[in-house]
Amino acid sequence: MSFIGINYVYVVSAAMFILGLKMLGSPATARRGNLVSALGMLIAIVATLLAQGLDYRWILIGMLIGGAIGTAGAYFVKMTAMPEMVALFNGSGGLASLLLAWSEYHQNPAMAPSLTLVTALSVFIGGVAFTGSLVAFGKLAGKIPQRAVIYKGQHLINGGILLVAIGAATLLYLKPDSLTGYLFFVTIVLVALGFGVTSTIPVGGADIPVVISLLNSYTGLAACTAGFVVSNTILIVAGALVGASGIILTRLMCKAMNRSLANIFFSGFGTTTARAPGEDGPKGEVKPASAEDVYYILEAADSVAFVPGYGLAVAQAQHVVKELGDLLEANGAEVVYAIHPVAGRMPGHMNVLLAEANVPYDQLVEMDDINPRMETIDVCVVIGANDVVNPAAVDNEKSPIYGMPIIETFRAKTVIVLKRSMSPGFAGIENALFYGENTRMYFGDAKASVQALVAEFKSGN
Ligand code: NDP
Repeated sequence: MSFIGINYVYVVSAAMFILGLKMLGSPATARRGNLVSALGMLIAIVATLLAQGLDYRWILIGMLIGGAIGTAGAYFVKMTAMPEMVALFNGSGGLASLLLAWSEYHQNPAMAPSLTLVTALSVFIGGVAFTGSLVAFGKLAGKIPQRAVIYKGQHLINGGILLVAIGAATLLYLKPDSLTGYLFFVTIVLVALGFGVTSTIPVGGADIPVVISLLNSYTGLAACTAGFVVSNTILIVAGALVGASGIILTRLMCKAMNRSLANIFFSGFGTTTARAPGEDGPKGEVKPASAEDVYYILEAADSVAFVPGYGLAVAQAQHVVKELGDLLEANGAEVVYAIHPVAGRMPGHMNVLLAEANVPYDQLVEMDDINPRMETIDVCVVIGANDVVNPAAVDNEKSPIYGMPIIETFRAKTVIVLKRSMSPGFAGIENALFYGENTRMYFGDAKASVQALVAEFKSGN
């Protein structure tokens, strides 16, 4: 295939990536969007292979191994383990860019000085994304301690590591084509691998999804720079798209938590149980309810909003919640599922779980759409959510989550909260909602609790 010909194919692939990304923006089109992007990538890979005249044996072996791992992952990894899987995918992308740039330098150390710098950049960002993603995976999977590792002089050490990388890149630029040049190159590789670890360990386990999103953006940048190194247009375009979408997602997550990126990286948030200085505990009384009590409340409701959170994922209660939703609809109630953008532990966590249970997309309501009509909702059923419904975010200026947008369930006529205990959520703070005048606490594992309600409905009590 000619150079011009392959670039036409790449334009088609790039258009499919962009279309796919756009479709990922809505749960109704997300699956198709994924397929469109994947097809775009397949077209780009086939075109590249045909154009380059490579030794296909190695490529076939690589594709078979990679394809087998990907297929096994898609079938066997549980939905709750998706963030770990994404971390690993991300790390592989970073490593691939590092190796690609390294092999280019190895084959052609006398490359143009400006290209040497781009190669060093690709290696550095790819290395950071690789080990950073491995740490993120380790924390999420509980293979290493989840707590934030914070020590004195941490910023100085990290700054020093960055300076070493910049120094090595400058020396490489001056003397690329020599043994010393090669040593500087290897120094950059080692420093990048180390920096990935030291810059990720200060983040507490529960904030790791934000870091994965940021590392995802690094992987995109590494691929983009690697694209310049090997002069491959589609790698530049795909890398730039991943880099940009990763950083946009990171920003959206920070906004949804009302926290800065610096706070996520350096505060050790969520590792301690916090009550702000001078702050009293919530006032009011906790009113426990039995399955039978909750059944009577729900049975009389005309409108019910389920508000799922991390506990729904832990309990894997999505299927039985859908069953309860259907029973409520059959009983004449309007049923919706109110989704907070950072409920759970990864973006879109609740959408994915509810889609798995075949909850219709038109029943999913975003926070900004449900809040204005909250007073009209008869019953809000909070299932394993805590921080995302904590009124302290709107009425307690001393609270660490003050300013975070929440689903304002406390304004509904009645609130039923399903959780196992009075334990705090991820932010480690108390929740005044549980003591509210209109709140009933229905204690227990979310799945078992909802199963009991389904049984009540089926037996007509
Ligand atoms: P929270 O972590 O605030 O609360 C989850 C609640 O679920 C807990 O209070 C727990 O209470 C309950 N729970 C756990 N297991 C079960 C179970 N088996 N059955 C019933 N309840 C259970 O979750 P939210 O979804 O409300 O909030 C998410 C938090 O995570 C936010 O603070 C957000 O900022 C943060 N975060 C989210 C990210 C994202 O991308 N989604 C990324 C990073 C952070 P109990 O133990 O008493 O049962």
